[in-house]
Order: sequence, then C-alpha cells, then structure tokens
Amino acid sequence: MDSMTKKYRDALIAMRQHLHQHPEIAHHEEKTAAYIRDFLKPFEPDRLLYGIGGHGIAAIFRGKNEGPAVLIRCELDALPIREENHLSYSSSIEGNAHLCGHDGHMAMVAGLAPLLSVSPPDNGSVILLFQPAEETGEGAAMVLDDEQFATMEPDYVFALHNLPGYEEGSIITRKGIFASASKGLIITLEGASSHAAHPEGGNNPATAAALILQSVQSIPQRSVAMHEAALVTPIHIRVGHPAFGTSPGEGVVMFTIRAHSNEVLEQMEKEILQQVSNIARAHRLSHHYEWTEPFEAVVNDEACVDMIRQSAKALGLEVISKDIPFSWSEDFGVFTNRFRGALFGIGAGKELPQLHNGRYDFPDDILEKGTMMFYRIIDTLLNNDS
Ligand SMILES: [Zn+2]
Ligand SMILES: [Zn+2]
Repeated sequence: MDSMTKKYRDALIAMRQHLHQHPEIAHHEEKTAAYIRDFLKPFEPDRLLYGIGGHGIAAIFRGKNEGPAVLIRCELDALPIREENHLSYSSSIEGNAHLCGHDGHMAMVAGLAPLLSVSPPDNGSVILLFQPAEETGEGAAMVLDDEQFATMEPDYVFALHNLPGYEEGSIITRKGIFASASKGLIITLEGASSHAAHPEGGNNPATAAALILQSVQSIPQRSVAMHEAALVTPIHIRVGHPAFGTSPGEGVVMFTIRAHSNEVLEQMEKEILQQVSNIARAHRLSHHYEWTEPFEAVVNDEACVDMIRQSAKALGLEVISKDIPFSWSEDFGVFTNRFRGALFGIGAGKELPQLHNGRYDFPDDILEKGTMMFYRIIDTLLNNDS
C-alpha cells in the first residue's frame, strides 16, 4: 500500500485547513482534541484514550499477534502569534495561529487511521499520539506522567517536523543528537527604589542588570569547548518603570540558553547562576531565578534512523543526512531519552517562510508523504512480509 486514495487525500487536506482555521494554543487544545477524536472514531481503533496529560488523545490499533508497540506522535497546539496570511482558511482567532505546522502533523498522523483500520499490523500495536502543549516544552512530560500512558508503554517512538528551507518532501535525518536542548531563565533583581534626585538613598539594579546581560552572553565563548555548540540569547530586559522621578528598585533579565547536548546545557546553567550571584552580591542586591520551558536534546537511535532512511528510499524521497544537530528544540526529546526512537524532518519547501513566522503556512502537498513515511516505518517493524 504505497499511496492513498484521492478520497482520503482530500479528507486530510480538508482536516488540515479546518485545524489551521481554528488554532488553539498550549493547554487550551480542547476543540482540536474533540475534532481529532471525532475523526478517529469511525476507524474503530482498539482503544481511544483522551485527556492524556491535558488534552492529549491516543488511538491504539492492535495486530493479530504479540509484538512491539510503535508510537507515532504529533502535536495539538498552535502559537500565540498573529497570522499574516490571507487564505480562505486563515486563522479565525486573532493573535493565535498554526505557524509551526502542527496542523499538518496532525493530519499526517490522523491519515494513518484509515490505513491501519483496513490493514492492521500483523504483530504488536500502533499508538497514534496527539500530544498537547509542545510549544511550551511541557506536553511530552505531562503525557508521560499521566497514568493512562502507563498502560501503553511504547517500544519505539517516532515523530517528524516539517522544515522550511528544504526541498518539499525531502527527508532530513541525523543519528545521535538531532535537535538541541534549551531552557528559559528569568532572573529577578531586588534593590530599593528612591527619589531620582537621591539614588544614593536606594539601590538601583540597572548597572547589575547590564553586567549580567554582558557576562551571561559571553559564557559560551568563555567556558564551552569549540566543538560543543552553545548559545545564550537575551530575550527581555526591564528595570523599573518609565517614571522619571523614581530611581528603580527592581529589574528582570531573561535569557534562552541552548546547547547541542544535555550535559553542556547543565554545565552552562551552573556557570550562569554563579555569575549572576557574584554580580548581585557585589551590588548588594538580592536576586532569585526561575527556569522555564525546558527542552531535552532529541537523541536519535541509530537503527531507527536507518529505518527512516530506508522508508524514504522505498518511497522515492530524497534523503538528507545532517552533519550537525539543529539549534532549535523539540520536546520529543523527552520520548527519545526514554524509548528507542527518532525524530526526522520533512522538507516544507525552500522558499517557505520560517516556522513561527506570521506568513508561514503548512504545504498540503507533503501531507501524504508524511503519512506514508510513518506507514512504511510501522510496516517495517510490525508486518511479517516486509
Ligand atoms: Zn514551534
Ligand atoms: Zn513545532
């Protein structure tokens, strides 16, 4: 079975565009989940679970014999960014839009349901997982913590992400680290406010905030080896309020830090906290910090990457092997760090605007290719004659 009937292809495009028109951001994917559930039901999966780790959905299709459980994962959430496209199916919700292509990923995975309902695997089972809250880095961990997940322990996990900048339908793979680890850091500084005419009567954290900005940004250069990529991006800085009569007494500095490996990220975390505490102490400021939106590195299993490459070749798709890991993060790392599996990229078109750009829109032409890639992988792992 190497292609879908036109009827299913059209249904997946309609589904993708419906989802695009009705985006819901992380933790609010209620209607999206209901829509997916209604789509899956008629294909009579052996189990249909919902409310997993929030609004997550899982459809399980069992084979005739015992065998491994293969989990295929996609994401339910859109982004809190305004869409700038003028399409017949543009976002109907001001300020929210599917600008990461999760609408397309959902349609690709949903497209497996009709195939699996007609020809279930010979052995084992397939779990179609629609995961909530990927964009905030929370969803994968929430799904794993849910007791419903304990009833479907997978042996293999796979997911894909569409990638603008690559030829439509090309398959991008890498053994080992595929996407970087990252984390957000919020540092709050507390001194004392005073009249602007008497700054000496208070303790203004502006200089310390500026020093922290400089010092933390240069940590990758000072303490990370050249072959270990690491990056610190300043995200937000604020001291006091625009009131000219007041010397401020508090301030906030935020960074996103990223590294190819989890180990280098941890090492940077320690170094950053040390620097911040030194600077705060030198300026007699109290400070606290909070880590947010943590993403583990996605580490791909070598044999699973071989399977992906073979599947792509069998489907006549171009295979691109990436030399270095991607600098962006994906919370699928939570799965690959616990189960054998891999994340791969599917080219979304060289000219397509980047992910999270207001003019991005998922290309429907790659829907069927994504579904068939997953189907091939399942076929390799669970069917006798493959
Ligand atoms: Zn995204
Ligand atoms: Zn995404």
